[in-house]
Amino acid sequence: MTMNLEEFREYAHQFTDWMADYYRNIEKYPVKSQVKPGEIFEKLPDMPPQRGESMDKVFDDFNSLILPGITHWQSPNYFAYFTANTSFPSILAEMLTATMAAQCMIWETSPAAAELEEKMMNWLKKMIGLPEYFEGVIQDTASTATLVSLLTAREKYTDFSVNEYGYSGNEKLRIYCSTETHSSIEKAVKIAGLGKNNLMKVEVDQSLAINTSELRNAIEKDLQNGLKPFCIVATLGTTGTLAIDPLHKIAGICNEYKLWLHVDAAFAGTALVLPENRWMTIGIDQADSFVFNPHKWMFTNFDCSAYFVKDKEALIKTFEILPEYLKTGTRGVVNDYRDWGIQLGRRFRALKLWFVIRNYGVEGISKKVDEHIEMAKELAGKIKSASNFALFEPQHLNLVCFRYQPEYVHAHEEINDLNQKLLQNLNDTGKIFLTHTKVNGLITLRMVIAQTYLENRYVDKAWELIQKTAKTL
Ligand SMILES: *Cc1c(COP(=O)(O)O)cnc(C)c1O
Repeated sequence: MTMNLEEFREYAHQFTDWMADYYRNIEKYPVKSQVKPGEIFEKLPDMPPQRGESMDKVFDDFNSLILPGITHWQSPNYFAYFTANTSFPSILAEMLTATMAAQCMIWETSPAAAELEEKMMNWLKKMIGLPEYFEGVIQDTASTATLVSLLTAREKYTDFSVNEYGYSGNEKLRIYCSTETHSSIEKAVKIAGLGKNNLMKVEVDQSLAINTSELRNAIEKDLQNGLKPFCIVATLGTTGTLAIDPLHKIAGICNEYKLWLHVDAAFAGTALVLPENRWMTIGIDQADSFVFNPHKWMFTNFDCSAYFVKDKEALIKTFEILPEYLKTGTRGVVNDYRDWGIQLGRRFRALKLWFVIRNYGVEGISKKVDEHIEMAKELAGKIKSASNFALFEPQHLNLVCFRYQPEYVHAHEEINDLNQKLLQNLNDTGKIFLTHTKVNGLITLRMVIAQTYLENRYVDKAWELIQKTAKTL
């Protein structure tokens, strides 16, 4: 049954038609998969096939078994979590990437991949207005980038001794972030051996951004107790509500106490293509590292996380390895990205960025981002003026957070019950997909306005459905 080249060509054509039809029909699927736990697992055979099966049969099963278990992240009715958006140029690039299937661990294993990556990181840096001296590398995810940052910070702060000898037990390193910081920071702290209890989660202010006087207090207190503050993680656009930590103030604190500063802008970083949003990055020159995900809001399909550092040498010194079989004559002349992060093997991720940036142009990307922000502002305005709904403010960029809160309901428990039900009922319709967060103990629904092919009418329709569904509660 092995496929020959001509059959491959035929199926490739057929699948491309399927791909285009998928986007044409995407609204016909329930946005959030409606399958029950175990439903798909049960339908799959326990044993792998002994004999090869025809591609027709495999493809039929894909359609009947797999597709119902897919949540349609690219649907214009998808408003959940953060988007992991893609776009047609990105998909086309991934087809080529999968075809060449190059493993881009070092320059020699595909010079174009390494050099395109370097150039794309330089383009992105210019597009979002980062200082010129930052150097970038593509990581798989922001979680990985943050881990890489903390490991580099740890090594720089301990004069590269933990890499060499392991922890002595006298490091007493302390790290700071806000209570609203993404869970990947805590995960990175655990993996880096820093100890979860040494991650100090500082209280936030009304806007859910870090309270910098509390931050200063925490650092002072640790110093008095003989502990060693070494790193702050600032977030531009928290996952719950897109709260923006005041970078300029945090930068001042980092400067004063000589701390490493990592900036997590995983989602909101894309907004920096619009110069009017760059107030968020005032103080960025103090940052040691910065990450944002083109795979969230910059139309480049997962995975593609742009990680920028000020001190490339420290990064490489933390991660470099040089077994005999990887020695090359070009070392030091070119970038061997295996030394810029954790994994050895690397996908060719720069290609999809190149396709996206060239096909949209900076103008095209900026326009879409601007449209998303405008749509969110418009929706926020409607929610604010609707009776029985409470908008969470400040509303930032393209995330709208709100609650159903009829006038006669006051008890927190009751409000939470209502919103839990509202969310469940909405998602059960299969017509839209939203998720929630908690703000001061109150369940708050989140609507992320970032789908690549989103238009106003989808947002309007969603808002109508939300109001209608709320009335039935
Ligand atoms: C999504 C997100 C992350 C994690 O991103 P991954 O690329 O999935 O690891 C980290 N921080 C923030 C603020 C996020 O929104």
